[in-house]
Amino acid sequence: MLKLSEELVERIRAHAAQSYPYECCGAMLGTESSGARLVKELVMLDNQREDSPRNRFLVDPADVLRVERAARAQGLDLIGWYHSHPDAPPRPSDFDREHAWPWYSYVIVSVEAGVPRRMASWRLLDDRSRFDGEEIGSDLTAAC
Ligand SMILES: [Zn+2]
Repeated sequence: MLKLSEELVERIRAHAAQSYPYECCGAMLGTESSGARLVKELVMLDNQREDSPRNRFLVDPADVLRVERAARAQGLDLIGWYHSHPDAPPRPSDFDREHAWPWYSYVIVSVEAGVPRRMASWRLLDDRSRFDGEEIGSDLTAAC
């Protein structure tokens, strides 16, 4: 279960809409306890792919280091990544699977004709064979 407040969901959706027709991407910082992940902060990243930013989400290794440092400075962990799929369903592509790491949560938001639509979260299996869906919850009352 990945917990995202409505405010954070709105920020991801706004970033996705504003980047359309290109993909947006960013990092999710938060905490994990007994299997539930709580996202507390987002870090917007630039999409590094100049050749095909429309359908190729890729995070620069320097971004990963920067984001991990930012997370630690706030007492948080880097728990996942989000990106958008312009005019495509919120399912990981083969490219996503080849470039993903196990453990992280991958949130994908579909943007149709500039309007953010469905959002889904995914976890890559340890053997990297496929992603499993992860439930997104918005009930944050227990965490505040
Ligand atoms: Zn993707």
